[in-house]
Amino acid sequence: MTEVLRRIDCAKEYIYKWKSEDLSIGFVPTMGCLHAGHLSLVERSARENDKTVVSIFVNPAQFGEGEDFNEYPRDFEADVKLCREAGVDLIFAPDEASIYPDGHSTYVDVSGLTDNLCGRARKGHFRGVCTVLVKLFNILKPTRAYFGKKDAQQLCVVRRMVEDLNMDLDVVGCETVREKDGLAMSSRNRYLGSKEREAALCLSRALNFVEKVIASGERNVNAIKSEVLGFISNQSGVRLDYFEIVDACNMRSVKVLKKPCLCAIAAYVGKTRLIDNFYYE
Ligand code: AMP
Repeated sequence: MTEVLRRIDCAKEYIYKWKSEDLSIGFVPTMGCLHAGHLSLVERSARENDKTVVSIFVNPAQFGEGEDFNEYPRDFEADVKLCREAGVDLIFAPDEASIYPDGHSTYVDVSGLTDNLCGRARKGHFRGVCTVLVKLFNILKPTRAYFGKKDAQQLCVVRRMVEDLNMDLDVVGCETVREKDGLAMSSRNRYLGSKEREAALCLSRALNFVEKVIASGERNVNAIKSEVLGFISNQSGVRLDYFEIVDACNMRSVKVLKKPCLCAIAAYVGKTRLIDNFYYE
């Protein structure tokens, strides 16, 4: 039985009841429009916890000006169905006014780790992410929270925040789920027309290409980067936002490849911004 709650006080009541019964709570924060990537987090949570909560909230604070907050795909009915089938115990889907009521003035900023990659490309993005997560963690009091490695910088930032703020939960990172042809699943893939869908493959292909370049013995990051630039510039309809190789612990760009690092790419396919990555570890 999947409960769907929109109000913070109602969600808290459920959580208090479960806590009083000493039940563990797994939490999967999402912006909805669920796909198999999200569901892999849900399945893991269901395996590891007594109760699983999914939040569905398109968080305005993590979108910058000119970004796709208004267009972001929303399909609540389908999400509820998928959650029911996956055995989710509670869907928490608050509205904007209850998360950010008039007078809301507190934001959470993780410094350093957010200077590079998506933090650099999307100013204020992680501030929005961290702020909403702290609020959701406080409301839902999860034992464990599940995040995809597809958003590798987000995972790294959230781990740091949870540690720095002495928050009482475990952050669990889950592997990226891909379509058969290699495209990383993303709610934003719904924006893609059929030609764009084909062009979008260049992200995962560029990363496969990088793996081969690394396997051939190349360790110089500038050399790898220029190979990637060459690879992407041949793809019509695709504009590279960044390709970076960073230290996986601090998200700082490295000059020479060394484990563990993260190879991360972001590119616009038409108007749609997609990201992908792999860890070299
Ligand atoms: P979103 O709804 O895009 O905010 O994503 C919610 C959570 O699902 C985040 O922790 C994402 O990293 C994770 N996620 C999104 N896409 C995938 C994927 N293809 N594989 C695994 N996790 C994913």
